[in-house]
Parts: sequence; C-alpha cells; structure tokens
Amino acid sequence: MSQTQVPVIVIGTGLAGYNLVKEFRKQDAETPVLMITADDGCNYSKPMLSTGFTKGKSASELAMADAGKMAEQLNVTIRTNTRVTSIDPETHTIFIGEESIAYDKLVLAWGAEPVAVRIEGDAGEHIFAINDLQDYANFRAELDDKKRVLVMGAGLIGCEYANDLSNGGYEVDVVAPCNQIIPNLLPEPAASAVQHGLEGLGVKFHLGPLVRRVTQTEQGLIADLSNGEQVETDIIISAIGLRPRLDLAVKAGLQVNQGICVDRSLQTSDADIYALGDCAEVDGKVLLYVMPLMASARALAKTLAGQPTDVSYGAMPIMIKTPVVPVVVSPPATEGLWDIERSGVNVKALCRDDAGALLGYALTGTCVADKLALNKELPAILK
Ligand SMILES: Cc1cc2nc3c(=O)[nH]c(=O)nc-3n(C[C@H](O)[C@H](O)[C@H](O)COP(=O)(O)OP(=O)(O)OC[C@H]3O[C@@H](n4cnc5c(N)ncnc54)[C@H](O)[C@@H]3O)c2cc1C
Repeated sequence: MSQTQVPVIVIGTGLAGYNLVKEFRKQDAETPVLMITADDGCNYSKPMLSTGFTKGKSASELAMADAGKMAEQLNVTIRTNTRVTSIDPETHTIFIGEESIAYDKLVLAWGAEPVAVRIEGDAGEHIFAINDLQDYANFRAELDDKKRVLVMGAGLIGCEYANDLSNGGYEVDVVAPCNQIIPNLLPEPAASAVQHGLEGLGVKFHLGPLVRRVTQTEQGLIADLSNGEQVETDIIISAIGLRPRLDLAVKAGLQVNQGICVDRSLQTSDADIYALGDCAEVDGKVLLYVMPLMASARALAKTLAGQPTDVSYGAMPIMIKTPVVPVVVSPPATEGLWDIERSGVNVKALCRDDAGALLGYALTGTCVADKLALNKELPAILK
C-alpha cells in the first residue's frame, strides 16, 4: 500500500463502514484506506445486541474480530477511539481536534445517535441508551446483580430487549407514550399479538405515560410516570429512538434533511464526500436497517473503484427479534387498504392498493411462513 497516496477515508467501523470496505477491497486491493472510529473498532453485528440472553452470549462474545484483525484482513489502517471533530470539504481535510488529515474521497458511515431524553431525579447513571457494543458491555456489567429492568420505548428495539431480558430471567416493565407497541411498523392487530406474547412471558406494559423522574432508594430505583403511576426497578434502558448524526455534516455545509442527503450514487452535496448507513438519507429515504446499508455498500464500492453505480433497493422486509411471537413486516410506502386475518397470536395483515397490488404486510406467529411467497409480490423500495 503506497504511503504517499492520499487515502480514501471512511469514518465509522459499524456494519456500513466495514461492509463498504470489504466490498471495495473486492474491486481495488491497493488504494490506501484509512478508517476512523470513535469506538474500539471491534467488528460486531449490532442487531445481535438485543439477542444476548436468548443466544447465551456475553458482550465480548458478540465481537467477531478486533480492529487489528480487521485492519489486517482488509489491508487498511484503522484508528480506534478517535473522534473526527470537523470536516473541511474545500481543502479535502478532516480534523481530529488539532490534527488534520487529507482525503481523496471521504465516506461518512458514522451512524445514528440515541434521541436524548431529560429525566428528572438522581438516577441518571442507571439509565442506559445502548447503541454500540461498548454501551452493551457497560449495561451488562451493571445488570449483573440486578433483577428488574425498565425499558423506555416500545418500538422495535425496546420490544426486542424486553423479550431478550425476559428470556434472561429478568422482570421487565416497558413504558412508552404510545397506544400500541411498535407503532411505526406494525398495524394494531399485529402489535397486540406481539404484546400479548410478551405479556405471556411476564413483561408489563405501561402504554400512554412517559417516565418523568427516576430516584434511587435503598431497594433500587423508583420511576415516576406522567400518569402518576410508580414503577419499581433496578436499571433502565432508554430505547426511545435513533436519529442520524448530522452535526458535523451541517458544520461542513453539506445538505441535510432527516439524514445526510445523498443521491442514488450515495454522493452528498459535495462531489468527493459520500454517505451510507444509518446517517444517510438516500434519495429521500432514511432506513435504519442492515439490508439498505448492504446494498449501498456494494454500489458505493464500485463507484469508489471508478465504476459509477447507483444503488437500488428491492423489497426489504424487517424481521423483528421477538422470538415469543415471531414477526416479519414490510411497511407499505404508500397508503392502502389493510386486510387482516387473526387467530390468537397469528396475524396475517396484507396492505393492498386499489388495484389489488400488494404494498406491504405484517405477519406474526405461524403466519411468518407466508413471507417468501409474499416477498415475490412486494414492490421495490428504490427501483
Ligand atoms: C438493538 C438493535 C437491534 C437491531 N436489529 C436490527 C435488525 O434486526 N435488522 C436490521 O436490519 N437492523 C437492525 N438494527 C439496526 C442496525 O443495527 C443498524 O441499521 C446498523 O447497525 C447501522 O450501521 P452503521 O454502520 O450505519 O452505524 P453504526 O453501527 O452506528 O456505526 C457508526 C460508526 O461511526 C463511528 N462514529 C460516529 N461518530 C464518529 C465521529 N465523529 N468520529 C469517528 N467515528 C465516529 C462509531 O464509533 C461507529 O464506528 C438494530 C439496531 C439496534 C440498536
């Protein structure tokens, strides 16, 4: 690898950063690549964080390879525990505090951050927003001698943690200000089937109120909810949502909306800066999932290797990891009519347009078996 050539710099060693570089190395074995990450650079699959107890894995067992091994495998340089603090597109430079490094092309794969929440009281250190392996390791260390967990948020991530912690033998309370679980993805009958399954495991749902205040007592923590209810617990997970990281992109003058705006070639408003993964808004779509970032990594690898390639997304159904009631959902991109069959926790909900074409679905329990046949009928997300 030439040491004098200005490198391609990739910020982030999550699934987006590592998969991009893996794909790039299939196209180009030589061009120097520098990866920079604020964490320790371990290669791990973030979706597995909400399966630790079910799969019997500790935080360290979820790590597949450390940064040293990844650097060797990919023939790249990786700087770990290093936070990029600004970008100057004019001079093709990134900054790490006072230090500056020049790039030829820059790729932003710096992910999304947990939505911050202000909770009153004196128990802030017991509230964990788990967004990477290190956060998970810290949470597991604190969880060790505890029995009860309160999960704030009843979205996909909150419900997955609720199921997993229940499988681990913990008493789980879920508090969320919505009137059904997983509100952004599931139609109500599918949501209530999953809720019913989780309740069967002993999970207690408090839907409607917010956690206002958390205080420490001799016996653990007391959470005061906005409806006056009190929940006793030992530790809290905050899973109230993720938002693409935008700050540095805004300061660099890049166009942003909900995410960093990129076109189908994953190019930002600056010709030599690209973005993919949770931080990117691709042709108007922010999708915080693995399948879109894998498709983006394959396309961008080719573009960086000199073969301009647009990304396309096929249908991308999402498996929700609540093993007590399996769920797969492909949320419709446009409004349609839902046709819903339900028998106990088994729900088959199909959304169709006026002409009868399938727009999306939600399947729970045994109905999940229908997904392969239905996937063939689903429209592509980005043709
Ligand atoms: C519990 C959980 C379960 C999930 N389950 C599923 C699932 O079942 N299916 C699915 O499709 N998706 C799932 N997801 C979503 C999926 O994990 C994400 O879409 C994906 O991991 C995002 O990868 P990323 O590389 O874009 O971001 P990240 O993994 O967040 O990586 C961001 C990287 O950027 C670095 N970084 C950030 N800022 C800086 C900076 N200033 N300087 C240097 N480095 C920086 C970070 O250190 C990190 O290396 C789940 C997510 C969670 C949290």
